[in-house]
Amino acid sequence: MPRYEYRCRTCGDTFELSRPMAESSAPADCPAGHDDTVKLLSTVAVGGTTTAPAPKAGGGGGGGGCCGGGCCG
Ligand SMILES: [Zn+2]
Repeated sequence: MPRYEYRCRTCGDTFELSRPMAESSAPADCPAGHDDTVKLLSTVAVGGTTTAPAPKAGGGGGGGGCCGGGCCG
């Protein structure tokens, strides 16, 4: 059974739970009893695809040289 890591947003504690993949996104209570938790992305050695968000490329603004020389009009 895969292990998932969660973080409690109330007390900031992190904890792991072993649960079926079908319940990986189900709410998990932290050991202190808080229910405001989020699932962390951890390396799970179970088949599956990891979808990493692609970093958005910053705009590389380069100056165009056309309108400077009179070719535009
Ligand atoms: Zn907590």
